[in-house]
Amino acid sequence: MFAVAIDGPAGAGKSTISRAAAKEIGFLYVDTGALYRAVAYDILKNRIDPTDQKAVCERLSAIEVHFGYEGKEQQVYLNKENVTDKLRTPQVSAAASLVSAIGPVRQFLFSQQQDIARENNIIMDGRDIGTVVLPNAQVKIYLTATTEERARRRFDELWKKGESVSFQAVLSDLIKRDENDMNRKVSPLRQAPDAIVVDTSKMDLAQSVQAILTIIKKKIGQGTK
Ligand code: C5P
Repeated sequence: MFAVAIDGPAGAGKSTISRAAAKEIGFLYVDTGALYRAVAYDILKNRIDPTDQKAVCERLSAIEVHFGYEGKEQQVYLNKENVTDKLRTPQVSAAASLVSAIGPVRQFLFSQQQDIARENNIIMDGRDIGTVVLPNAQVKIYLTATTEERARRRFDELWKKGESVSFQAVLSDLIKRDENDMNRKVSPLRQAPDAIVVDTSKMDLAQSVQAILTIIKKKIGQGTK
């Protein structure tokens, strides 16, 4: 199987770019952030403080999270309920960043990320895919953009969905989330030593997808020689 690991900070466009690139080459797109978001969604729904590590860990035995696919579109199930459409809110984003810093939460979600890669050609995005989940991925990309550009994209995305948030709030949430993700003790966001950096600050979506595809196709070509 062929695996492409895409890591990077929040709002770098990982999911949009990865989904489009996967479609182009017929790979499965796996959004691992959705798993952490599903745990966070459950924690918030049950009025548990996401910084209360003990309470979060105790809750894990009552939940089951898994991926499913409708066609090529990933769905995430929490205790058999499809929660895919409920996961991309600012509240869930912030809570996901907190619960994902808890070691047992990461262990809880680890094996299914590896399992799906064993059975499919995939593009998988997250924070620790190239470093921890798929250290042997054939292609590793660290996708990034300036903080302001990432905040602007996230702001536009939220407004399109009808959420009235301020740019300042989006920017400070993003900075906080990057800080959590990069400085946590377990599986912090890091560029893998063998990852290729793609900075999309000055690229539009089509150019970003093309940049990723060029890297992947080159590697696939090398593999078949
Ligand atoms: O990628 P997305 O923004 O949906 O991820 C939400 C949060 O889940 C991230 O801020 C990060 O804290 C966590 N995450 C992670 N490891 C991954 C994917 C996401 O810690 N592989």
